[in-house]
Amino acid sequence: MIVILTGGTGGAKLVQGLSLEIDPKELIIVCNTGDDFITYGLHVSPDLDTITYTLAGIHDPSKGWGIKDDTFTVLEWLGKYGGETWFRLGDRDLATHIRRSALMRQGRSLSQVTARIRKSLGIEAVILPMSDDRVETRVITPRGEISFQDFFVKTRCADEVEAVLFAGVENSRPAPGVIEAIREANGVILCPSNPVTSIGPILAVPGVRTALRESRAPVIGVSPIIGGAPVSGPAHKLMAAMGMEVSALGVAKAYADFLSTLLIATEDGNLAGGIRELGINSSATSIRLDSIMDRRRVAHEVLALL
Ligand code: GDP
Repeated sequence: MIVILTGGTGGAKLVQGLSLEIDPKELIIVCNTGDDFITYGLHVSPDLDTITYTLAGIHDPSKGWGIKDDTFTVLEWLGKYGGETWFRLGDRDLATHIRRSALMRQGRSLSQVTARIRKSLGIEAVILPMSDDRVETRVITPRGEISFQDFFVKTRCADEVEAVLFAGVENSRPAPGVIEAIREANGVILCPSNPVTSIGPILAVPGVRTALRESRAPVIGVSPIIGGAPVSGPAHKLMAAMGMEVSALGVAKAYADFLSTLLIATEDGNLAGGIRELGINSSATSIRLDSIMDRRRVAHEVLALL
């Protein structure tokens, strides 16, 4: 059994490769929920949904979020009524949020609802939220504290970032099965996801980091940073704000207390010595996950390392 820790976009690319290289029944995927938010009274879980849609084969590869060929009629009409439309919600995607929210209002937990949705879509891999408790990633900017979606989507990462915090994380508990999965795993994979706002919240849930440190299974990561910059998204801004070095070495430092091996880009081969000094092995290869072939190849390499 393999445990995967992931956010949305970057992580989903590796998760797709892994699901094609190994029996999906052997995968337990733990997703960040710090980006979750409520809009129009609906509970939206962007990372859980990106992973779910990817594994169901219905994701939109051009956008990196949402459902392929989705339409936006409901959102268009909400706009006519003066509603906010900056967070794009497709019609089919909305069905996920409506169903999730209805079940949660009836008392189901986020993990129970996530299991129902993935089973309805025929997904065999287990998908778990990091926690059933509400943990909210907040970005501290010169204009004050804002939500992650306000920073990421509404203002397209334009704000200067002073710090990032995970509201509610101290009192959160890992979702049922998360700690057990890490303890019993034959291997753990850290996806090439944003170390601050995707992997960071998962590691901040009490008990998760300790379970990783104590795990006897190898923990293999894939760097989201190539040649000193993220492939996409604001990881550079967020890492710099948190005092982290924006490089594969900075990624290795963030996970140094539990990481066994980090896959880094070929052009970052010169960082291997510094990573070695942290007690972490590295393997330099092409880690761009653009095509399905790339995703399968990197997944294969990660599994071979495990
Ligand atoms: P988010 O929820 O959309 O922020 O999802 P992630 O945190 O999983 O994705 C963002 C991270 O994925 C960024 O730090 C990117 O650099 C990384 N990323 C995206 N595409 C690739 C890729 O093809 N290869 C690698 N190595 N990293 C990638």
